[in-house]
Amino acid sequence: MRLLDGKKIAEAIRSEVAADVASFISKGAAAPKLVAVLVGEDPASAVYVRNKVKACAQAGLASEEIRRPAELPEAALLALVAELNARSDVDGILVQMPLPSHISAAKVIVAVDPAKDVDGFHPVNVGRLWGGGGGFVPCTPLGMMEILARSDIPVEGRRAVVIGRSDIVGKPMAALLLKQSATVTICHSRTADLAAVAAQADILVAAIGRKAFVRESFIKPGATVIDVGINQVRDAAEAAALFPGDSSRLDEIKKRGYTLVGDVHPAEAARRAGAFTPVPGGVGPLTIALLLRNTVRAARARRGGS
Ligand code: NDP
Repeated sequence: MRLLDGKKIAEAIRSEVAADVASFISKGAAAPKLVAVLVGEDPASAVYVRNKVKACAQAGLASEEIRRPAELPEAALLALVAELNARSDVDGILVQMPLPSHISAAKVIVAVDPAKDVDGFHPVNVGRLWGGGGGFVPCTPLGMMEILARSDIPVEGRRAVVIGRSDIVGKPMAALLLKQSATVTICHSRTADLAAVAAQADILVAAIGRKAFVRESFIKPGATVIDVGINQVRDAAEAAALFPGDSSRLDEIKKRGYTLVGDVHPAEAARRAGAFTPVPGGVGPLTIALLLRNTVRAARARRGGS
């Protein structure tokens, strides 16, 4: 079984982005700029935003973090987005999800200028993905396609099964696989005989949000398994069953209270898959790398190819 090293692939993309930014700047242009908006105090969201801002700096992009309190009225957030749309120094806008419940995420997504929508969530960009192309594509599915391409895993003509139909992962991943001529099936919580459907896949994508949900019986021998899930395991016995013989996982639980597991049972995938993305270190690192790449693309498109 081949472990697909997402960290290494993400590093390669980040250094390509850094080189691209350097050439952009060498022609006299200002560095591409990403603005991240964080509403409320959710600690996980705060970490995500901090990591995105840090990654921008490492690759030579400019960035700005705008924090607003959880009580921010929806109208005020929409006004902020309009202001960022109008600012000529801003190339990419990211509004960190989830938003507080009194704010409609759909309204905010539609408010972002599609030309600055580096998350690829705006309906115009969703339409472009399923139609003629040319828009922004959500970063996590883009990252998964990079893993496949850079690991020389063929897509054309293969059977792909995506478990999960969210707007940010499952659906766009299915669109990208279809674009590359895979035969694609999308599964979800109402799918009958899920294991049997999954077991037909040459490429199986798990984007479910349930720890170790995909078991051995879901995996066709030799299949490529892409695990998007990020779940915490706090129980030592459970971790020992998921990662037999890996004492570092138990050490991690002792040290910080949890270890991470994906939506796929790692020990069973190791027995059955041909290639597998580990958690952590698989899909996760790609998301930020592709966000940086989308931001540079946005700058180039908006400022006319400098
Ligand atoms: P959502 O909760 O939006 O979607 C989950 C999907 O899984 C839904 O379509 C749901 O079906 C389906 N599902 C849930 N339970 C079952 C079940 N028992 N059988 C079959 N299908 C089921 O999650 P996301 O797509 O946002 O995220 C999925 C996972 O990926 C999460 O673990 C998340 O943490 C992780 N993630 C990781 C990222 C990364 O950078 N690595 C980025 C984004 C997410 P239905 O539609 O019928 O309810």
